[in-house]
Amino acid sequence: MTKFGYEQKSFQSKKTNFVFAAMLVFVFFIWALLLSPDHGGLVAVNITPELRVDFINVGQGDAILVRTPMGKNYLIDGGANVPIAEARRDGRELTHNYLRTLGIGRLDGVVITHWHNDHLGGLLPVLRLYDVGVIYEPPGAFETEAYKDFEAICVKQHIKRVTTKAGDVLEWGNELFVQALHPEKPLSGKEYADVNNLSIVLLMRYGKVQMLFAGDIEEDAEREVMKYGEALRSQIFKVPHHGADTSDYFKFLQLVSPEIGIIMVGANNAFRHPSVRTLTQYERLGSKLYRTDRHGNIRLFVGGKNDKDFRFELDQR
Ligand SMILES: [Zn+2]
Repeated sequence: MTKFGYEQKSFQSKKTNFVFAAMLVFVFFIWALLLSPDHGGLVAVNITPELRVDFINVGQGDAILVRTPMGKNYLIDGGANVPIAEARRDGRELTHNYLRTLGIGRLDGVVITHWHNDHLGGLLPVLRLYDVGVIYEPPGAFETEAYKDFEAICVKQHIKRVTTKAGDVLEWGNELFVQALHPEKPLSGKEYADVNNLSIVLLMRYGKVQMLFAGDIEEDAEREVMKYGEALRSQIFKVPHHGADTSDYFKFLQLVSPEIGIIMVGANNAFRHPSVRTLTQYERLGSKLYRTDRHGNIRLFVGGKNDKDFRFELDQR
């Protein structure tokens, strides 16, 4: 009886079969690259069953790339805008270069958690160079050069902007649940001590794994977000405000109770982030911490089949 495929008789050895299988995978990969919408093709290709989240080592600042199982790409913040020589000297990434290295040609959406330069600055070259589907931004404007540049780029490139508020569900694909938990709108009656408290907080769930991205919120906003109670419990937590002393209200942390906390922070930064108090609190909770200043780029892969179905890859330093 004739067999087909990998076990076909005409293939003499296991080695030949292996080479043939490897070629098939390679051809599929090239086909996926050429035909997927990200590369100007027409066919949506499900390349991976995993959700991938890269916490990019941009030094002092946040830049998080989310690649969905269905092949969509989203960016949460872009780090600071620094000259390439400075980034190389410090061994940190520039977000637009990082995207290029991965071969990403288009971003389906960009979230700007708030307007501080360590989140917005590095997005400016990204918005200039890449096709961006939509920008999710917090309410209110900001009086900085970077903000003015941002507005001008959006007008020039015809980028759609959406003010994002608590309760909004972000349509990033049916396989994924993404919701903004903060800030409330309208803001009337709310006077925050710092614009950090206006950060968009995002809850993301893929299968049985939940992630919470807290921007730079400080204790004021953390107390507000606590209204969600047990729903905040997440396996993975982007630690607020680079682990600063102004955040990490312990009762809020107890609700989140992350297995893994990720601190996005520059080596020897002027703010002396993260604080000893913050580190001690996560230790009390039994959470493991990864830090971009020590681990470089932190890559998260989520399968989501059960609540333990995720893993990390760290840059070796
Ligand atoms: Zn920040």
